[in-house]
Amino acid sequence: MSSQWFVGVDIGGTTIKLAIIDTYGEIITKWEIPTNTEEEGKKIPEEISSAIFSKIAEIDASREQLAGIGVGAPGFIDMETGLIYQAVNIGWTNFPLKDLLEAETGLPVVVDNDANLAALGEMWRGAGEGARNLLAVTLGTGVGGGVIANGQILHGVNGMAGEIGHITSIAQGGALCNCGKTGCLETIASATGIARIATEKLQNYPESELAKIFNQVGKLTAKDVFDNAKSEEPLSLEVINEISFYLGLAIANLANALNPEKIVLGGGVSKAGDFLLNSIQKHFETFALPRVVEGANIAIATLGNDAGVIGAVWLVKQKTNK
Ligand code: ZN
Repeated sequence: MSSQWFVGVDIGGTTIKLAIIDTYGEIITKWEIPTNTEEEGKKIPEEISSAIFSKIAEIDASREQLAGIGVGAPGFIDMETGLIYQAVNIGWTNFPLKDLLEAETGLPVVVDNDANLAALGEMWRGAGEGARNLLAVTLGTGVGGGVIANGQILHGVNGMAGEIGHITSIAQGGALCNCGKTGCLETIASATGIARIATEKLQNYPESELAKIFNQVGKLTAKDVFDNAKSEEPLSLEVINEISFYLGLAIANLANALNPEKIVLGGGVSKAGDFLLNSIQKHFETFALPRVVEGANIAIATLGNDAGVIGAVWLVKQKTNK
């Protein structure tokens, strides 16, 4: 019999990423379909199922080769039952994703939070290099994360473990967060937060490159900040130092509790690369215990958009013992 394959699915608000992946985590083929949010997203399981089986036919494989499906979804999820309590972007409320997809495909399905699966993906085939104690921090439009302890995702009592973006960084005041609190890490270290902090500092640097961009375009982005930091523009450097301070502090506090081997930074903001990494490392070393610093390696994520589907397959592979 030919080797066993798995399907990784990563459901986002606008697209669903799919991949057929072998037992070693190598992608055989990957593709995307649009997320159909009509009728509160109720057609999604059927559309995922038909996307998988058309692909299997297209690549001349057989259904029997598939051993299971791992699915990453946004929102609040019951990992045992695969029930999505709520996923606002998609329209799901109390949606039995696991049961519906199992009924459509006849295959075992495992569902977990998308940020957790990205952490597992990096652990298995990415910057985590197999580290069984790993902290993943995703710096994108928001700040997300995943904690892996002894090779398993830490979910907590009701699925909220790893909500790193809502660590309070500024105890009093600070900007309002989407969660309703103020001063969350996400209000500082997300792409949105970086742009906001740079804009607020413009008045102190009226002659800066960033001020010129702001005057021309009417706004700043995180990318503007990182691009100008490369030419050592003082305002950009000040912004990056500030966000690295809060990131280094939050990561050090987490690391003092969790003692991870790898700390993996992913998401769009992490594309700033070594410059950001070195700055975070410096502040991390200030706040973490020396033995914690010694044990931990901070690295930029390497799987990009594939982390979610690869992590989903790792999980279903574990659960099906294949
Ligand atoms: Zn928050």
